[in-house]
Amino acid sequence: MNRAEERPPSGVGDALGVLDLQGGVCEHIDHLLRLGIEARPVKQEKDFDGLAGLILPGGESTCLARLLRIFAIEEIILRRFREGMKLWGTCAGAILLAGKLVGERPHLSLIDIEVLRNGFGSQLESFACEAAIPKVSDAPVPLTFIRAPKILEAGEGVEVLLRIDDWIAAAESPDVLATVFHPELTGCLAFHRYFARKCGLAPGGKADLDPTWDKTSWTRLARII
Ligand code: GLN
Repeated sequence: MNRAEERPPSGVGDALGVLDLQGGVCEHIDHLLRLGIEARPVKQEKDFDGLAGLILPGGESTCLARLLRIFAIEEIILRRFREGMKLWGTCAGAILLAGKLVGERPHLSLIDIEVLRNGFGSQLESFACEAAIPKVSDAPVPLTFIRAPKILEAGEGVEVLLRIDDWIAAAESPDVLATVFHPELTGCLAFHRYFARKCGLAPGGKADLDPTWDKTSWTRLARII
């Protein structure tokens, strides 16, 4: 069922992109720049050149899926993925990547996970907590869930990175990372460092918590990009 199975391994570039159609773009770019990674918003075909990986940000998955089709970006993502570009979906981005969606047709279908949208209820049920995720960080990782989906199941070839009660919050295949929370909305760089390494890049620095981060620090980028 999973298109990922058709894909040959290869390294493709040394920059990371953030899909810039809707949702939280600047916050991801800010985290990547803090790690010394070349990072750029991705809106059209030329923006994909030299990307080792692409982040599909949180936002609203129905809206994002429509924009992917309207701007013909879906095919480009699928092609670049087959050519070796890795993918990370946060929240709505994870919904776009899932192989199965409860009650809906899947979108890109690039990782064998089953996802329930709005798994906790309305926006009012958004919450923050922290959890140990040994593969990603030595220290507990702060987690922010905003009208988050739940990963209900992970198929063969998908490793669960974080399970909470009867649902899964983070999972990965060799080429795709899926998190239902928003690491870009905390001062923690651990997941961005982890994804950069997964893409074959060498992020700088060692500390996972950036003391210079504050809730609005990404706004300086919003004016530039
Ligand atoms: N509830 C949103 C959706 O279904 C996802 C929310 C988010 O990305 N924070 O697309």
